[in-house]
Amino acid sequence: MARICEDLLFPLNRPADEEGCHWKGGAVATPAGFTGAYATFTEAGWTALTADPEFGGAGLPKLLGFAMEEMVSAANLSFSTYPLLTAGAVNALARHGSPELRARFLPNMVQGVWSGTMCLTEPQCGTDLGLITTRAAPRDGGSYRIDGTKIFVTSGEHDLTENIIHLVLARLPGAPTGTHGISLFLVPKFLVGDEGAPAERNGVVCSSIEKKMGIQGSSTCVLNFEGAVGYLVGEPNRGVRCMFTMMNDARLGVGMQGLGLAQVAYHNAREYARIRLQGRALRGPAFPEQPADPLIVHPDVRRMLLRTKCMVEGMRALAYWVGYHLDLSEHHPDPAARQEGADLVALMTPIVKAFFTDQGFEAANLCVQIHGGHGYIRETGVEQYVRDSRIAQIWEGTNGVQALDLVGRKLPMHNGRLLRRFFHPVAEFLDAHADDPHLGELVALEAKAFGRLQQATATIAERSLRDPEEAGAVATDYLRLFALTAVGFMWLRMAEKARDRLVEAGALPGKIRGGGSSAGVPAATAIADPAPAIVSERNVAFYQAKLTTARFFFTKVLPETSGLLATIMTGAAPVMALDAADF
Ligand SMILES: Cc1cc2nc3c(=O)[nH]c(=O)nc-3n(C[C@H](O)[C@H](O)[C@H](O)COP(=O)(O)OP(=O)(O)OC[C@H]3O[C@@H](n4cnc5c(N)ncnc54)[C@H](O)[C@@H]3O)c2cc1C
Repeated sequence: MARICEDLLFPLNRPADEEGCHWKGGAVATPAGFTGAYATFTEAGWTALTADPEFGGAGLPKLLGFAMEEMVSAANLSFSTYPLLTAGAVNALARHGSPELRARFLPNMVQGVWSGTMCLTEPQCGTDLGLITTRAAPRDGGSYRIDGTKIFVTSGEHDLTENIIHLVLARLPGAPTGTHGISLFLVPKFLVGDEGAPAERNGVVCSSIEKKMGIQGSSTCVLNFEGAVGYLVGEPNRGVRCMFTMMNDARLGVGMQGLGLAQVAYHNAREYARIRLQGRALRGPAFPEQPADPLIVHPDVRRMLLRTKCMVEGMRALAYWVGYHLDLSEHHPDPAARQEGADLVALMTPIVKAFFTDQGFEAANLCVQIHGGHGYIRETGVEQYVRDSRIAQIWEGTNGVQALDLVGRKLPMHNGRLLRRFFHPVAEFLDAHADDPHLGELVALEAKAFGRLQQATATIAERSLRDPEEAGAVATDYLRLFALTAVGFMWLRMAEKARDRLVEAGALPGKIRGGGSSAGVPAATAIADPAPAIVSERNVAFYQAKLTTARFFFTKVLPETSGLLATIMTGAAPVMALDAADF
């Protein structure tokens, strides 16, 4: 994957941004190099990495898929959109499609020979899916006729695959209004004959592609469905539920896009801060033999770098923790452990999507700031990250909508059961480590943030019973408070590992505690600590840097939770008081 990213995808990132996609007569050409890169990507088996072996997938853990998505997004976000949507469509179809549809479409989608899309958005219908007007009417033989227009369809038309499989939300005749009257249909670009090969062209046409702020290499299409043949996926009028399978997968994937962008922005900023000479260190020249010191000596530059570094590493740990639970939810032999895994993933999905993508954009901004004016001009290439990262805060449900999902659906679900999947392991860890001689100070800071999160949760739960606007008005602040506390939990666990390795190496006094950090892992599957590694000098520096970065997070970033709690406690009134006419 590293070779594909470094040698193939990253070198195409900037040229694709310059060139964009081309629309002509309903066909879309992706930027130069994309077809070859996509062929290499699929031939190497990457689209099949985590898919079910029943349909030709490699069946590897979803956690590995997360790692791959971060790398691909960091190398070339536009490119990442093609396989990401296909993976989501594969999962939705695998879970809700009939055996016949699965057999006919999934193997080629898993191999990446055919790609997938999700078609929800219409001109009058974005966040509010209840406004969908695309129509579906039964045809002889069990298929449906689909008519309507979808906009903003990512990968809706392109030249990377021989067929494109659209998953389309539409209304059946006489269906109830709102989201309870929407069904999901599979609409292939080319109808697939009995022998499984694409045959006749279906009635779906790309009438244009959008000009947009970033991700120029990703085709964003207007699709007209005119008497297109579609096949029902799942039950009639349950389409939104089926589509949520795809959206939830995609939301985690979009979170990884945010992390990937944050990561690549950080890399660029760090390298630049090491070589750009400006000014002198405040305590006197750090490199007197040079005409000036590198940017990295300046406290304000270090602040920006460390902020990004601690977020990237903390978010990556959180992503892997969620990915691990996703795997448990699907494969653990014990149904109770599967349920626990699923609960945690459901709880964390809006947090991963919204917080990671906010951080991706913030990291890209800080990267430009560290580059100064050279970041603002195109030559250094980092302004592209600001433009590219911005979409991730919007698609798959805006970040505001993710926050509403967290407070409005996930918190009250099953009387707070989902919440307990996070609260319990954190509380356990804090209890077990309160007196830890190396981590105690960090544990105390996390305990404060956790206390704030508990207070905010109880307050929102209580107030929103009286008035739902109480939850809506503070949802974004609450999601951020939650995310920071979750990242703090990950940093504690990383700090614990780093401490253990340093003790092992004799670089820190003390004894290693038994048990490893299995918090949050069901007992049946707790991972034993690996045999003690030989801790090299380089690793000692690595683990020391982990502890130092952890300290930065807990002392300079996590205290934001105090301000967030304060704004949450003031409730909805200050937000709702101003008359609409007075804005
Ligand atoms: C490049 C690109 C690619 C896309 N790819 C796809 C795709 O592949 N498939 C697809 O179906 N769609 C796609 N979209 C559409 C995308 O998912 C929507 O733009 C997004 O869901 C928001 O809908 P909207 O743009 O209509 O904004 P609106 O729904 O009009 O929202 C505008 C603002 O109001 C807020 N808002 C709206 N309703 C509420 C509410 N109830 N409570 C609080 N705040 C609210 C939103 O958070 C947002 O800030 C894509 C969009 C873009 C730009």
